[in-house]
Amino acid sequence: MAEDTIFAKIARGEMHADIVYEDDDCVAFRDIDPKAPTHVLVIPREPVSGLDDPKATPDMLGHLAHVCTKVAEKLGIAGDGYRVVVNVGRNGGQSVSHLHFHVLGGRPMTWPPG
Ligand code: 5GP
Repeated sequence: MAEDTIFAKIARGEMHADIVYEDDDCVAFRDIDPKAPTHVLVIPREPVSGLDDPKATPDMLGHLAHVCTKVAEKLGIAGDGYRVVVNVGRNGGQSVSHLHFHVLGGRPMTWPPG
């Protein structure tokens, strides 16, 4: 259940996270195991299991994407570029069943991803 995940608890303020931005609809916090010098996760407060959850509305997704750009600017990685990633399901590498956008920056990214 999306309500029971670590990220739902962070969104409700029941678990600690290093929060870098928040508003009424979403929270952005540093990844506990960063894959780049700057690695932030942007999540909706609403418990939505992933990008493929019908509760992930276009408005919600647009807001989360916009917040990714705000976070990148705030943390000083926007100028050199950065990567926004959403892993979906098992093959996509999603390990937490609460929708999250990864914002990764502070080094050049490689392509293709693994
Ligand atoms: P996924 O693999 O689902 O796309 O990404 C999940 C991310 O959540 C991983 O990068 C992982 O390091 C991060 N993560 C897992 N547990 C916690 C936690 O308790 N706190 C924080 N801040 N990040 C976490």
